[in-house]
Amino acid sequence: MARARQAMNITPEAILQAIEPVDFININSLLGEEERAIRDRVRALVDQRIIPVAAEYWDKAQFPFELVPELGKLGIMGGTIKGYGCAGWSNVAYGLAIQELARGSGSLATFLHVQSGLAMTAIYELGSEEQKQRWLPQMARCEKIGCFGLTEPEVGSNAGLMRTTATRRGDTYVLNGEKKWIGNASFADVAVIWARMEDGRISGFLVEGGTPGYHAEVILQKGSQRSVWQAHIVLDDCQVPAENRLPGARGLGSTLSILMHSRYGVAWDGLGHALACYEMAQAYARKRIQFTRPIVSYQLVQQKLVKMITEISLAQLLAIHMGRLKDGGQTNPAMLSLFKMNNVAKAREIAALARDVMGGNGILLDYRVIEHMADIEGVYTYEGTNDINMLIVGQAITGVKAFAVVSPPAEPEKVLASAMGGLIKEGE
Ligand code: FAD
Repeated sequence: MARARQAMNITPEAILQAIEPVDFININSLLGEEERAIRDRVRALVDQRIIPVAAEYWDKAQFPFELVPELGKLGIMGGTIKGYGCAGWSNVAYGLAIQELARGSGSLATFLHVQSGLAMTAIYELGSEEQKQRWLPQMARCEKIGCFGLTEPEVGSNAGLMRTTATRRGDTYVLNGEKKWIGNASFADVAVIWARMEDGRISGFLVEGGTPGYHAEVILQKGSQRSVWQAHIVLDDCQVPAENRLPGARGLGSTLSILMHSRYGVAWDGLGHALACYEMAQAYARKRIQFTRPIVSYQLVQQKLVKMITEISLAQLLAIHMGRLKDGGQTNPAMLSLFKMNNVAKAREIAALARDVMGGNGILLDYRVIEHMADIEGVYTYEGTNDINMLIVGQAITGVKAFAVVSPPAEPEKVLASAMGGLIKEGE
């Protein structure tokens, strides 16, 4: 059997070994020394420790707990936060680290977005000094894990209609409701839960793992993001001390800066998936022989590879530019929506092309591409669906909000005026 395998034209191991990191338009020249070093450090961990085991975890729908401490040593968690035991990297360095992680495992990149992009950012941006000191250093080292509960079973894109309630009772808040799709929630040490208070305003609360009335059940049988766990949370008279409320959380708008930061990271995630798929397809096409020649020599195959590298190059330029703008405080929500929308949608197209180039082997997990292709589906939907991000850009360029109900439709001028008055706040 082993001999037969050796004699075969190609094996997953041979293709993985033949992979050459791609930098067609010399993106390296746009990076600082420290940014390159951070990227290479994450890339080394991904190549040595993550890629060899990723497909098996994904197949078994198991979360790789063994790898979490290693992520905690990288500096990637809360990577751009200054102080509180965090690395204080540039946004470009943080993005490159996410890209590399997603290149190895989309599921681990999703784990990172929840821990770092959502939970840590919420505590950093909206928390009290005491809350920051208590949670951020340990979360940066992955000794404590966080989650972020915004979405509900009946409330997805339109998060402003959330039904979970927080009722003040003495020195506590009592939370009741349900949350769906909440990453890390089944084993989180701290859950950032969004709920509506008695005065109708939305606020955020830190619920510690093990608090009575907090139940989180892992959502099973997913076809995407299989080796990271999302849970369905039920909050049943879940009592949290009043000081666990995030003091900076004042209305749904407070979630915006957090979602923007996470959305920025998710756009780099798309790039990581795209690079992984391209590199694999390129290596495969050089080795695979059909009709006596390597398939890479056929024009139709070359056309697919050229389409992929063109979109990757454009997505890389956009990513570096967005990172530099973000470092200078010059991004706005619509720009970040465009960034996430473009890079993830392009990754989706690139994964499909790569899968095609690899023929039947393209659907085998050992060859990695099908895992990326499936994982991109989750990314396409979270952090603002592709449609919602598109309509946020649409609102920015036309002044008309097209994703909320405007009624009655009888008088066109009023419809337009009403639509133009809408705020961009939907996101998750
Ligand atoms: P819906 O909002 O019901 O949308 C369904 C479809 O309708 C989409 O195509 C959408 O684009 C379209 N649509 C909706 N409204 C409009 C409109 N006005 N105009 C045009 N089209 C529209 N949430 C959390 O809070 N925390 C997490 O950690 C988290 N992790 C996630 C991980 C994964 C893998 C996934 C899949 C989801 C996660 N989510 C999380 C939830 C995620 O943010 C939501 O799935 C997302 O906001 C979309 O909500 P929905 O699934 O209810 O879809």
